Amino acid sequence: MSEQPESRSVMMTARDPQLMSLRPTRLGEFIGQDALKKNLATFIDSARQREQSLDHVLLAGPPGLGKTTLAHIVSNELGVGFRVTSGPVVARGGDLAAILTNLQPRDVLFIDEIHRLNPAVEEVLYPAMEDFGLDLVVGTGPMARSVRIDLPPFTLIGATTRAGMITTPLRERFGIPLQLQYYDPAILATIVQRAAALLALDLSGEAAIEIAQRARGTPRVAGRLLRRIQDFATVQDIPRPEQPHIAQWLEQLEIDAHGLDPMDHRYLRLIAESFGGGPVGVETLAAALSEERGTVEDVLEPYLIQCDYIARTARGRVLRPLGYTRLGLTPPPKTDEPPLL
Ligand code: ADP
Repeated sequence: MSEQPESRSVMMTARDPQLMSLRPTRLGEFIGQDALKKNLATFIDSARQREQSLDHVLLAGPPGLGKTTLAHIVSNELGVGFRVTSGPVVARGGDLAAILTNLQPRDVLFIDEIHRLNPAVEEVLYPAMEDFGLDLVVGTGPMARSVRIDLPPFTLIGATTRAGMITTPLRERFGIPLQLQYYDPAILATIVQRAAALLALDLSGEAAIEIAQRARGTPRVAGRLLRRIQDFATVQDIPRPEQPHIAQWLEQLEIDAHGLDPMDHRYLRLIAESFGGGPVGVETLAAALSEERGTVEDVLEPYLIQCDYIARTARGRVLRPLGYTRLGLTPPPKTDEPPLL
């Protein structure tokens, strides 16, 4: 989940129950992110052998890469309960205290969008994470006194699309910080094949690659495209869609060969044509696109940066030579670019 993923059309709408059922439930079924998985498997094994709670885990990365899925997997692998909430939902310290005091020993508490916790709630979290304790103030005025309540040992798993927005004291209390990366098309194709099998959709290897190449390195996008492919295949009565069918249907959905949709094209053209290639501020771009700044920064830009179509610089966004090429334009002769951030 991310801040405003719902505002993008094909990419992400509200949680889809059919996609939920595609979620891998064990670490062995989770495809890709190999280095991260290997480390996590060791830490889980160790916690299990020592019969202790796993250290707190911070999962960072763009929306749809598998943060929530991994959090579920960790609780399954540990064989413990799973509680879920999200940064903006926990409005007051008391709300968090209620959640914490209801945990069973070694449970996993998953807080999505943890960078959006308000500072008062974060204050409650610090002693809970560090010493499994809650400091409650009882009474008011001169009668007020602080009471410490012991909590069962638990594992906090925080997910964020904005690691940079997490305060230092909070970040430092996570013993296991993990960064998820975009998936290579070949790995994404394996995820597509697995999901297709679960949906009882017969797909050739080339067809799976075609979907993977247009899925922005993101399993959630791949899953959603697959559902639309299933719709086309059902209505056109094509039991085993081949690569040309996939290409044609995804073109019809205005998703190009590189996974860019009309919003991406508008964004890139805006920088190229209205702002002379940049630098241009993100607020200006968001206003011109009638999008939230958060959506532009969290959902739209990370993939364009990953592909080297744009760069974030100290003075704003600039179009990179590959970005011009993607738009069918000739890159301007090399000038002194502002330093990258
Ligand atoms: P995030 O929490 O990072 O936004 P999710 O965990 O909700 O992402 O994953 C989005 C969807 O992608 C889920 O439906 C899940 O089934 C699928 N998914 C994510 N990562 C993988 C993976 N490595 N292998 C298979 N499916 C995955």
